[in-house]
Amino acid sequence: MATPTSFDADLFVESTEAYKCIICFDLPRFPSELACGHAGCKSCVDQWLTARTSCPTCKADATSADVKPSGFLANLIAGLTMNCPNRQLGCDKRTLVGKEGKRIDDHLAECAFQRLTCADCHAQDILRRDLPGHRADVCPRRLVTCGHCETQIEARGLAGHSNAGSMPCQGLAACPNGCHDQKDRSMPLVVKIADLSAHRAVCPGEPLACEICGTTLERRLMEGHLRDSALQHVDSLVRENKALKVRLAQQQPEYKSMMAAAPPLPMAAGSDAKTLMVIYVMSQGVRAMLVRVDVWTLTFLFV
Ligand SMILES: [Zn+2]
Ligand SMILES: [Zn+2]
Ligand SMILES: [Zn+2]
Ligand SMILES: [Zn+2]
Ligand SMILES: [Zn+2]
Ligand SMILES: [Zn+2]
Ligand SMILES: [Zn+2]
Repeated sequence: MATPTSFDADLFVESTEAYKCIICFDLPRFPSELACGHAGCKSCVDQWLTARTSCPTCKADATSADVKPSGFLANLIAGLTMNCPNRQLGCDKRTLVGKEGKRIDDHLAECAFQRLTCADCHAQDILRRDLPGHRADVCPRRLVTCGHCETQIEARGLAGHSNAGSMPCQGLAACPNGCHDQKDRSMPLVVKIADLSAHRAVCPGEPLACEICGTTLERRLMEGHLRDSALQHVDSLVRENKALKVRLAQQQPEYKSMMAAAPPLPMAAGSDAKTLMVIYVMSQGVRAMLVRVDVWTLTFLFV
């Protein structure tokens, strides 16, 4: 904030008529005097004489060369009592002006009602007493901690932090199947990494393999696939069943030789041991079929 070159005449407790600048009618911080004795702010007088050659009050000739600082007026103004320029904003402080306004400046340097600019976000006109609150709770440049990954990040970046970008959240992941956010359909669904597998267990876009024909489909399409592909599924089960039977028949000689080579089980009588062995060896081959015993029932109707 630039230092003002004058003091608002309305702020003074005493009468100020005799001390007013002849050009702006406020009280000069650095008074300058013309040759005629009339005085005003140094800045006002210098500006006036760039285009004019006479005193605005008495019309006497005036030139820049004749202008000199008015120590007398400066001393008079320094001894006046002034209300704080932030009176309208709530400050009730009164103080002497002081040399070149030093006492006023000292007060303004700590006045709770002084308007300041936030050094971080450059927001203007924040009262000094409100600045700590602005920094802590409002300023978009304040640092906040991401609740997902514990990273410190500027508040203004938090909304975009969850997605890719300059600083993506390490604690969050977007659904790999392209789910959308429920509230904002234009945004991808983002979940905590710890919750990602739980989401994928119900995610409608998760690719699943059909248990019967092996086709890979999104979960949302699987129900329709099972409904629409019933005939093809029965076909493929029948084919699978036939192939299984052929394989079993081909392997039969193998079982026989295995049984012949196997030493008799010591704990069981001869024929019982053979039966056990047959059941054991066969079970290795048919286990796959037994787990689909319901499917068997169905396919026998077609065979
Ligand atoms: Zn002035
Ligand atoms: Zn004059
Ligand atoms: Zn004040
Ligand atoms: Zn700020
Ligand atoms: Zn984060
Ligand atoms: Zn999903
Ligand atoms: Zn299928």
